Amino acid sequence: MTTGTTGTTGTTGTTGGFTVLRRGRLLDPEAPAARRAEAADILIEGDTIREVGRPGLAAPEGAVEIDADDRLLIPGLVNGHTHAHGALAKGMVGDRLPLEVFLVSAGALNGNRRLEDKYLAGLLSAVEMVRKGCTASFDMFTEFPLPTPEGVHAVARAYEDVGMRAVVAPMMADRTLYQALPGLMEALPEDLQARVEKIETAPHEASIEACRAIVEGWPCDRARVRPVLAPTIPLHCSDAFLTACRDLSREFDLGLQTHLAESKVQAVLGKEKYGKTLTAHLADLGLLGPNFSAAHAIWIDRDDILRLADAGASVSHNTLSNLRLGSGMAPARLMLDLGLNVAVGTDSTNSSDTQNMFEATRLAANLSRVQQVDYKRWVSVEEAFAMATHGGARLLGFAGEIGRLAPGYKADVVFLDLGHINYLPLNDPLMQIVNSESGGGVDSVMIGGRLVLERGRMLTVDEAKLRADVEAAVARLNEANAANLALARAMEDVVGAFCMAQARRPYPAIRRCEDCGA
Ligand SMILES: [Zn+2]
Repeated sequence: MTTGTTGTTGTTGTTGGFTVLRRGRLLDPEAPAARRAEAADILIEGDTIREVGRPGLAAPEGAVEIDADDRLLIPGLVNGHTHAHGALAKGMVGDRLPLEVFLVSAGALNGNRRLEDKYLAGLLSAVEMVRKGCTASFDMFTEFPLPTPEGVHAVARAYEDVGMRAVVAPMMADRTLYQALPGLMEALPEDLQARVEKIETAPHEASIEACRAIVEGWPCDRARVRPVLAPTIPLHCSDAFLTACRDLSREFDLGLQTHLAESKVQAVLGKEKYGKTLTAHLADLGLLGPNFSAAHAIWIDRDDILRLADAGASVSHNTLSNLRLGSGMAPARLMLDLGLNVAVGTDSTNSSDTQNMFEATRLAANLSRVQQVDYKRWVSVEEAFAMATHGGARLLGFAGEIGRLAPGYKADVVFLDLGHINYLPLNDPLMQIVNSESGGGVDSVMIGGRLVLERGRMLTVDEAKLRADVEAAVARLNEANAANLALARAMEDVVGAFCMAQARRPYPAIRRCEDCGA
């Protein structure tokens, strides 16, 4: 691929000029004959696609030409759920840990971060996403005991500096894990009880006040990077906190996401605590609506899916971490059938060890195939790809702006190298994108008309410096967090035993059925 004429590589499109992508093979599943991915030219003005046509499409004089010959062009994948902070903990989380035991390590994984570490984690996470074909993400960023404008803004700036599109949420709670799970504190031996009692979250009023400052002082162009809200897990938030988040979301028209019924432990204890499902509880509190999205949504039943669908809400199907943490398989088929918008998410690098949207999307298709025998109802590659593009666009609040390569949409384009082994031979582009692509075929990435990755080289980030900075930060943080890690190790087995007992309890709200997956 070569860049021609007068444009400066890496800055095309940012000033409102024209760019034209020549001879790429365009995959637009909504266009006729899309599966053949025929050669097309794409005319871009500024950050927006103006026209898609046959090779030789007329372009205004002076337009920057980019030769996309031998490249398959797809819309950038949209990540429905991740956490920038996890990027520094890739491979650090124990091999066989369920969600709640993983959460015990939060202090060891995220503690003692300086502001520059927060920015660095954002940078690393975003670079990995871009390199693996993702151009936009929903990020829940953690700080303890409460979010800070500096921290959340640092992550937003990291996305902006990489050139990615994102929505960034402060991830918040007003209860610790030990306060959130009824019965857990009592199950701990006295010495451990005394140690975890010292861990305190901020009162929710302080977090809400921080959110106001985060939103009002937002440092980024909202066309690219927007603020959203994330009360992390319903059981970890008081009802007063959840409703305050609801009100703030309405006041500023902000997206709102939570980890919903991710584990059976949450579902069982939520039912016991609220006398109804977690989804019903959120519905009764008035949280569900078009701005609301649920991460995971594994342990939900048909009525819950209808509640979400009727509200116009979305779900992020986080296949990689759901398997890694043994959380379960979300009933994606039933969600689609009942009209619920479903996106694909990678979840954090500390719980899936990768930001690979291709792998997460492949699993979105394939997991459905072990959930029911009726193979006509398995999630198809078209559906999985639509989840990873359109579904994500809607979840992020960018519906109609990203997720397609068509006139009026933003020029968020991933160039896949048709010379890569993944496409040799090229028989069915869409089938091979979903089933063969590893991220290894990503050659270049354009976001908002601007090349961010060109022929395997990041144009916006000095990756050698990034590596040196990350390695230095992680060495320092691992030392600083040694005591937190020792506490986590001391807690793991006792929390694990408590959670296994909860997970063995029946949860009658779910009628798992091999014919419908729910
Ligand atoms: Zn998550």
